Formats: sequence, structure tokens, C-alpha cells
Amino acid sequence: MSKRTHLGHQAKKRFGQNFLHNEAVISSIVDVINPEPGENLVEIGPGLGALTEPVVERAGKLTVVELDRDLARRLRHHPFLAEHLTIHETDALKFDFSELVIDEKPLRIFGNLPYNISTPLIFHLLTFHDKVQDMHFMLQKEVVERMAASPNCKTYGRLSIMTQYQCQVIPVMEIGPEAFKPAPKVDSAIVRLVPHKKIKNPVKDIKALNQVCLAGFNQRRKTIRNSFKKLLTSDQLESMGINPGLRPENLSVDDYIMLANFVVDNPVEEDQE
Ligand code: SAH
Repeated sequence: MSKRTHLGHQAKKRFGQNFLHNEAVISSIVDVINPEPGENLVEIGPGLGALTEPVVERAGKLTVVELDRDLARRLRHHPFLAEHLTIHETDALKFDFSELVIDEKPLRIFGNLPYNISTPLIFHLLTFHDKVQDMHFMLQKEVVERMAASPNCKTYGRLSIMTQYQCQVIPVMEIGPEAFKPAPKVDSAIVRLVPHKKIKNPVKDIKALNQVCLAGFNQRRKTIRNSFKKLLTSDQLESMGINPGLRPENLSVDDYIMLANFVVDNPVEEDQE
């Protein structure tokens, strides 16, 4: 049997398919998620059901979003799972997760995500933060490190700031490549994201926060005097108490929020030099 075949299914690279097959690892992941009956549970990329089955055993029902037609069909005809699942055969990147909120029950989203789309998928999911109770994702370990990074770290950047602005980020466990079939080339980790009930220091426009992060980290070795040139002057940075000689990784999430709000209040004309 080919290394890429699992339970009679040929793993597809383009869908980032790495299936969990180690029972001990699967059950510790499900313990971390801790699904309970009556919760509004949503799995992204159920695949061959490695996590789906034990979650259904505990919670009774589950909504799944799966892009691969063959896998969605298998789930629809699965002798045990089918009647417990609501299956959306669609692209999670384009899916409107707010349509799953019924009776105001917040979502508990989880999944062993396709690594090739994990960052855009996280950004997409963050837009539903006010509908979400928590999220548990298997990601490349390096992505979890970037999400959880503090200022002054090498891995601190746009993903850290955008995620921490919306959520508490809790790395929960690391998982080696041998737990998957086929085995990925990288280490993996599970992260728990808990959206803040109330954002203490809200930005006036989330797009502006993204914009200052993009500008700041576009070239991380430049000083912010240079990288923010198109958005803010050195004098303006200094007027906010920020030293223009710093590098983008030296600013806190609150600093980025302050910069974003300044840019909203003082928009730059496109052609102005
Ligand atoms: N949860 C399973 C499979 C993980 S592999 C396990 O742990 O074994 C990733 C899964 O995400 C695959 O089932 C793949 O088909 C699915 N997938 C890939 N891209 C997707 C997308 N854009 N939207 C929804 N599901 C996707």
C-alpha cells in the first residue's frame, strides 16, 4: 500500500491532507477540546473522521466543513457518523461561519487544518470572533509560535498582533510528524484560541491595524521611521511617544493599535509626498 494511502483513501497534497492515525494522540487532542453534548461544535476538514468520530461519541452531533468531494461523500455514507453530522461540502476559506450560530449558541471550532492555507484561514476565522467560544487547531508548530510570540521575539509579527488583538492564544501541545499519514516534514502543535469577551483597547478599523502591521513587517530589519514612511512621519511617531529608531518587533500590540487609530484619524492622501 502506498505511503499516501490511508483507510483506502489516496491523500491529496493540494488539500493539505495529513491524516491522524495514532489513537493515543487522537484521544489526547479530543481531551484538550473537551466536547460536551449540547455545544455548537464545528470541525474544519474532518477528512476520514479521526477526530470526528471520538467527538461525536462524546457530544452526539457535529457540523463539519469539508472541501474534498470524495471525503464528504464518504462521511455522508458513513455507517456510524452520517446521522450525527451536518455536512457542508465547501471551502472553509469562503464559508460564512456566522450562519452556523443557532439559538445564540457560540461556536466551538476545531480542526487539524490543511497547513497550506492555515494563515489565511485563521485570518478568515478571526472575522467571526464575536460568534466563537473557542477554537482548537492543529497547525505547523512554527505557526503556533508566531501566533503566541511576544514583542522583541524573532517570530513576532502580523500574525501575533492580529491574533492576540482578538484572542487569548494558548499553545497546548506539540505533536511529531509520526502521528500523521503521510507524515509531514514539519513538527505540529495544537493551539487554543479564546476570543476576548470584550476588547479592552479597540481599534477604530481592523483594516487599519492590518495595514500598519503589513507596513511595519514588510521589511523587518528596517527602522519604523522608514517602514511607516507612507503612513506616518517621524514627528508623528515621536508625538505618540514612539522612538522612530525602533524596529517593528519592538512595538507592543497596544502600540500597533495606537498607530492604527492615528492612521484612521489622519488618513494620508494617495499622491501626497
Ligand atoms: N481531520 C482529519 C484530516 C486532516 S487533513 C485528520 O485529522 O485526520 C486536512 C483536511 O482538511 C482534509 O480532510 C482536507 O480535505 C480538508 N481541507 C483542505 N482544504 C480545505 C478547505 N479549504 N476547506 C475545508 N476543508 C479543507
